[in-house]
Amino acid sequence: MPELPEVQTVINDLIAENLIGQNILGVEIRWPKIVVVPTAEKFRELIKNRQITHLSRRGKFIQIELKPKKFLFVHLRMSGRLFLSVADLPVSKHEYIILSLSDGRQLRYHDTRKFGRFWLVGQPEEVIGRLGIEPLSAEFTLDALTQKIRNHHRQLKPLLLDQTVIAGLGNIYVDEALWKARLHPQRLADSLKKQEILALHEAIPQVLRQGLDNQGTSLGNGKANFRSTNQKPGRNQEALKVFRRTGQHCSRCGAKITRIIVGQRSTHLCPHCQPIKS
Ligand SMILES: [Zn+2]
Repeated sequence: MPELPEVQTVINDLIAENLIGQNILGVEIRWPKIVVVPTAEKFRELIKNRQITHLSRRGKFIQIELKPKKFLFVHLRMSGRLFLSVADLPVSKHEYIILSLSDGRQLRYHDTRKFGRFWLVGQPEEVIGRLGIEPLSAEFTLDALTQKIRNHHRQLKPLLLDQTVIAGLGNIYVDEALWKARLHPQRLADSLKKQEILALHEAIPQVLRQGLDNQGTSLGNGKANFRSTNQKPGRNQEALKVFRRTGQHCSRCGAKITRIIVGQRSTHLCPHCQPIKS
């Protein structure tokens, strides 16, 4: 599933491919369920003849600002992909939303699993109002994280995955951040010492920035694997320390990486570097 670095990479690539400034001339919706609000019919009507003026990210959401003012949100979920295409490229069976642009190209949404979603709203809060703190923003201070951590009697892994606490982290980057901070994913958040919160506060932005520098993580060759626009894979899989490295040696201590299930999620850790007891 695309997480903060993958979503930001898609946005950066769409900006580099000059999506901003395009007028939307029309839309084809081939799987209406992808549109959450409004109805597919209303979506077609409302998005027409608006200009794309700004692209940004909040958590794992892509926010596309339109003029006259509306906000289009896209969540890629498991396998969604956005890309720009020439208009005469045949439409593949997994392309479900096609926006025709004023320069003759199309912005196409491809999704093998069909879990991704679109929203067209008047106010961003309608979609992203409950999201937690942005881990790469100035608001992600040590004090802010300490408050989040101290207020929760919950295991670290599910807490960090909770988008209403911190927005943008998913399975890959949580496992990597906990390894970097030497914290067991099942440690209770309110049991962390000051030094441990400090380590986590450093680790989270580090693993995200590395993912962003490497243009995302693309694991395996599956159809659901992350690709940015133009089918471009990320390179961060080569830099991962624990995620999907079960049985391989920890680069810090040499112990074997193990896999456990925490909150129904596959979780990877070094049992030596990340002891359950602090
Ligand atoms: Zn280790």
